[in-house]
Amino acid sequence: MGIVVKKYGGTSVGSVERIKNVARQIIKAKEKDTEIVVIVSAMSGETDRLITLGHEICRTPDEREMDMLVSTGEQVSSALLSMALIDMGCPTISLNAPQIEILTDKSHTKAKICKINTDRIIKELNREKVVIIAGFQGITEEEDITTLGRGGSDTTAVAIAGALQADVCEIFTDVDGVYTSDPRIVPEARKLDIISYEEMLEMASLGAKVLHSRSVELAKKFGVKIHVLSSFVDAHGTIVTEEGAGMEELLVSGITANAKEAKITVMDIPDKPGMAGRLFSALADANINVDMIVQSETRGKTNDISFTVDKTDLQKTIAVTKESVEKMGAGSVVYDQDIAKVSIVGVGMKSHSGVASLMFKALAEHDINIEMISTSEIKISCIIRISAMKEAVRVLHKSFELDKKG
Ligand code: ADP
Ligand code: ASP
Ligand code: MG
Repeated sequence: MGIVVKKYGGTSVGSVERIKNVARQIIKAKEKDTEIVVIVSAMSGETDRLITLGHEICRTPDEREMDMLVSTGEQVSSALLSMALIDMGCPTISLNAPQIEILTDKSHTKAKICKINTDRIIKELNREKVVIIAGFQGITEEEDITTLGRGGSDTTAVAIAGALQADVCEIFTDVDGVYTSDPRIVPEARKLDIISYEEMLEMASLGAKVLHSRSVELAKKFGVKIHVLSSFVDAHGTIVTEEGAGMEELLVSGITANAKEAKITVMDIPDKPGMAGRLFSALADANINVDMIVQSETRGKTNDISFTVDKTDLQKTIAVTKESVEKMGAGSVVYDQDIAKVSIVGVGMKSHSGVASLMFKALAEHDINIEMISTSEIKISCIIRISAMKEAVRVLHKSFELDKKG
């Protein structure tokens, strides 16, 4: 057998007892798989606790120092799991990103992995050790610690699996697979046995936090097969792989929701070439990812532009936007945090018409107002009020009959 990469999320290593349970599972798997590499998240709640601490020290903590702080969570859980395994007689070693050399760019708090040196991992595997790696963290060329964005341990796992050409990357979590929607919001959601990279990527990017979106991007790029499964129940989960045989032919395969964005509106922008370019270049230079953008019709000689960003970037966005507005001679800047984005995702949309109208009609019938719309070949997203988010997800799940097998 080849190498198997196993990733355990926060809930799965959330207590001493759970860590011991994971250790027992690894020992059992070791009987079948010769070489095992494990990636761990911080114990559940730990990353939140550390971020809160950072914000108690000051309102806008320095991002480099924030990465130094939050990356410690994964170091704790990897060492604890390693200790448990050694105590059970299983030769193990825990390693962090600097020890391995998981090289990233310099974008603190949302860094991207550029290169992984597999030498140390292979050396330890050759010594017949289980290698336990702290997820979520990386190191820059200048030897500064970075983190990969919330949920980023999935990305560490897939990147390591790709670099080692592992047979599979198993993502152990607190649900037993990928569902047609978040089972915590839609109890009737159905587990999918298999899903394409393309659909999973859209679902993850649009709010299905079961997988970090960058992990799916890397899996697609390097052809890593992902298996999402429960660390509590011993059963087959969901395979994420190339589109093809064995997949259900659904028009829409998933409904997602995301309440993590805020909307910014710049009023009275002069209606002349270069204005939008100026604003969005300034945001890009400040490392702010902009999601949806809508420009209003021109009123006289001006128009308004609304766009959405991650709430964590809101303060920075307002500051950068106000600076640009001054230079452009535009009007005021207003923001709204009470929005949510609901989306429908499915490759079936490529070849069917009428999907958007069905979505809009279903929302309208429940008095849910649509404030912004964006589409791609395989998804439609609507910005609505945050208070209507859960209802909208349930309504859409029912309208597209996702509770019934396709
Ligand atoms: P971990 O800590 O193991 O990384 P996460 O909390 O990041 O786990 O992701 C698992 C959670 O993702 C589930 O508990 C579930 O509520 C949520 N989730 C959202 N959308 C989906 C979906 N479509 N299918 C399965 N789980 C989903
Ligand atoms: N511990 C990090 C977080 O909570 C990374 C992860 O769990 O994947 O976001
Ligand atoms: Mg996660």
